[in-house]
This record gives sequence, C-alpha cells and structure tokens, in this order.
Amino acid sequence: MQCECIENIEKMLKERLSVPGKFKKPLADVKLKGTTIVMRGLDLDLVTCNPIEITLVGQKKAVESTMAHTFCPFCGVRINPEKESSNETPNQ
Ligand SMILES: [Zn+2]
Repeated sequence: MQCECIENIEKMLKERLSVPGKFKKPLADVKLKGTTIVMRGLDLDLVTCNPIEITLVGQKKAVESTMAHTFCPFCGVRINPEKESSNETPNQ
C-alpha cells in the first residue's frame, strides 16, 4: 500500500488495548484482519481486502477467497501505484 494506514491502525489498536486488566494476560500484538498479500512484480505487498464466499451448485461447502481493494478504505489513496495514471477517482 502507498499509505501507512494498516501499520498506524495496528499501532493505535495496540495502544488502546494495552489497558491493564483488559485481558487476562498481557497483550503481545494486534493484527488488523481483512488484509491480504498480493504480488507486485517481484515484491509482496500487504493490502486491505474483503473476504468473499463463492457458492457452487451441488456443493454444500462454500469456497472462500478475497477481493483486494484498489484504494485504501481508510484514506482513499490508490493502493497500486502502477495504475495511478488512469482517470479513476476513489469514489468509482
Ligand atoms: Zn490509507
């Protein structure tokens, strides 16, 4: 991601949840769910996503997958800088 929202939110959550007595044991770490790793050339990037559930005819168990976001849902900055030259806006 081009922004630091995931890191900042995890840091903020860790600070807020590090209240003595909040949990039975001391807080070790806080990870924001709803993220996935995508390939960008040879690099890996942590991006926000939504889980999706795919139901198939004749199959009881749904297939789980994720849909990576194009823009950061917290600040609106485009996640993939390679597509920055297009005319899209965060609200499209
Ligand atoms: Zn952001």
